[in-house]
Amino acid sequence: MKIAIIGAGISGMSCALELERNGIYPDIFEERPRPGELFNHVAGILQLMNRPVRNPLDWLKRDYHINIHPIATWKKLTMNSPNVKRVVNSRKFGYFLERGQSERSLETQLYKQIKSRINFNYRANYSELAREYDYVVVATGNRQISATLGIWKNIFLTKVRGAIVKGNFNPEELIMWVDTDYALGAYAYLTAFSPTRASLVLIHANANPQEMERHWLTFLKKEKLDYQIEENFLLEHIAGTVYPHQVRNIILVGAAGGFMESFLGFGTISALRSGVLAGRAIAKRLPFGKIIAELDKEMRRSVRIREVLNTMDNDDYNHLIATGTFPIIRQINYHTNIPVLRIAGDILELIRFSTNLRQKSILPPIPIKSANKKNK
Ligand SMILES: Cc1cc2nc3c(=O)[nH]c(=O)nc-3n(C[C@H](O)[C@H](O)[C@H](O)COP(=O)(O)OP(=O)(O)OC[C@H]3O[C@@H](n4cnc5c(N)ncnc54)[C@H](O)[C@@H]3O)c2cc1C
Repeated sequence: MKIAIIGAGISGMSCALELERNGIYPDIFEERPRPGELFNHVAGILQLMNRPVRNPLDWLKRDYHINIHPIATWKKLTMNSPNVKRVVNSRKFGYFLERGQSERSLETQLYKQIKSRINFNYRANYSELAREYDYVVVATGNRQISATLGIWKNIFLTKVRGAIVKGNFNPEELIMWVDTDYALGAYAYLTAFSPTRASLVLIHANANPQEMERHWLTFLKKEKLDYQIEENFLLEHIAGTVYPHQVRNIILVGAAGGFMESFLGFGTISALRSGVLAGRAIAKRLPFGKIIAELDKEMRRSVRIREVLNTMDNDDYNHLIATGTFPIIRQINYHTNIPVLRIAGDILELIRFSTNLRQKSILPPIPIKSANKKNK
């Protein structure tokens, strides 16, 4: 069987690993000279997202045969809204993973396990490959091919402005800020590579680059952050839903297949899972739509929660952080294994049609033209 994978990101490489486990060696095409974004950052994996799974990394190893090592365990969460600050400690909120091209990044860890050939500096054309290969797995990390195929629906479009900063940090802590003055519909956060180096990231809905720069400066000023900046970056980050996930012999995984929680923009675990499931579906000749159904359901639940977040202003944030850290709620959220998000998502799904959640969104509409870029 001839398989092409477009993108040597985390979903593409996890798909390749699963195919290899089944004796199939795909051709992988990657437009960069090596796997990983040009800038490094530290991503969080939150145990709350995958409950009742207790340990997401053990689960990935056991059920998906993906073996990865975090740079730290996430034990402290500091939440800031305009008028409230709360600190919560836990034995384990989750893990921190380094992303990018560094030696210990997730991308490098996966790359070292791959035996198939990766064609670097190769921008692949999916429709040409679809004629030549039995299957083409689209793992491009963006919506272009899904939008061209007419199966993508925008959910949440953001700009991400970040920097690598120097200072004194706790590598086991995530600091989060919510404030509609500079992070409309989203948030800012700091996670550390080491006790002296961290990534500081601001996410804002639907801003253009000039507006984003203004929000960044407002954020630094309002939160009195004067870290020494080593490197800056700006990118677009888009969450959407995809249906169906397979069109003819083309299978869509990772962010390109809509496998990213639109609640917080977390997509690491779902990218890895969808990649492995695509490899499994191909190798075992199973229908991808069926094998992916549970993961797809999880993504749709997160859309319901995103719709609620889109309605929140600063007073709501103050209230949420204050009440969310009441002892009983804190106990449920951080010290039990109750699938809080799954329950919340299901309840929101039930009440969805009897409320006007969508109409109350405080975000500007997503520009239509940006969903229609062609990639043929
Ligand atoms: C700043 C930032 C912070 C984040 N933080 C978190 C976090 O804390 N927790 C979390 O869970 N998630 C986080 N995410 C989301 C997560 O990183 C993504 O959901 C995940 O990386 C998506 O994986 P992917 O395999 O779909 O795409 P990617 O990992 O982006 O890989 C796509 C690959 O395809 C290649 N490519 C694209 N087009 C072509 C083409 N035509 N031909 C050849 N190659 C191509 C690209 O070069 C790239 O290497 C964050 C994302 C960003 C940007």
